[in-house]
Amino acid sequence: MLKIAVIGCPIGHSLSPKIHGAALESLGEKYAYEKIEVKPGELGGFLDYAKNNLDGFNLTMPHKVDIIPYLDEISEEAEMFSSVNTVKVKNGKFYGHNTDADGYVDALKNAGISHENKNILILGAGGVVRTLAKKLSVGDTKEIVILNRTEEKARKIADEVDKCRCAKLTYDVLAEACKTADVLINATPLGMDGCKGDFENTEFLENLKPDAFVSDLIYAPPKTTLLRSAERLGLRIMNGFDMLIFQAIRADEIYLERNLNIEKIYEDVIEKCNR
Ligand code: NAP
Repeated sequence: MLKIAVIGCPIGHSLSPKIHGAALESLGEKYAYEKIEVKPGELGGFLDYAKNNLDGFNLTMPHKVDIIPYLDEISEEAEMFSSVNTVKVKNGKFYGHNTDADGYVDALKNAGISHENKNILILGAGGVVRTLAKKLSVGDTKEIVILNRTEEKARKIADEVDKCRCAKLTYDVLAEACKTADVLINATPLGMDGCKGDFENTEFLENLKPDAFVSDLIYAPPKTTLLRSAERLGLRIMNGFDMLIFQAIRADEIYLERNLNIEKIYEDVIEKCNR
């Protein structure tokens, strides 16, 4: 039986048990999935438990960076992103990976979008943007523009990523950047359930080309103000739920140590989660 868990703080809201449960049931795997609250500074104690009781675990805030010194090995991508969301436990050792960016690219692909030859506009410069910008810059991507409330944080990422520039996030700058963007990604919590802030207006969306794609990493609510406005303009949209599903399936590949039929499992997970 596969024994896995998700850790974070807070963790009560996590959809990981539901998604991994649906994926592993679709594979006919026997599993136990725990949701464990691990407060900042309590990673050491949890790892003693994990070493003897788990085959792997997912990590969410605030542990994605703090786990790194505890790992025996880290994958090339997770090291490049300086962020770990999946740990395989094997023979008492910890192997760190990051499946967030792969999950996002899988979700884009599932929506019929490729980042190749595209101008990508990202709002936010937090942990997830570091991974997405690095992943999306590989290949024939034309340009990545990062706009963030705190410009220095965007600058730090832009300096590390090819074909990437940045600026302070203002409505004027955003409206201008939309004129050339093919893919717009909101990676701020603006519009998220439980977050006080939201976009004050979404007029900037009118500057996007008719075939532009608008993606919000938020999945609660399923349609943020941003996505509803984009949809009203006839633009293609995607919320953050598919990214969450695909990064989970990629994590299950790591736990099970084999390639999975990702598209088939995605369909099964969607069907189970919508029931
Ligand atoms: P993070 O490290 O906390 O970064 C948050 C970013 O949002 C920062 O750049 C911050 O700007 C900006 N921000 C926060 N409040 C803002 C406001 N009121 N106005 C403008 N900008 C604001 O978060 P993260 O881990 O990168 O995650 C970002 C988003 O992606 C979250 O909504 C998270 O839920 C979502 N996410 C989804 C998935 C998925 O699987 N769907 C996975 C990971 C993350 P400053 O730098 O100025 O503080």
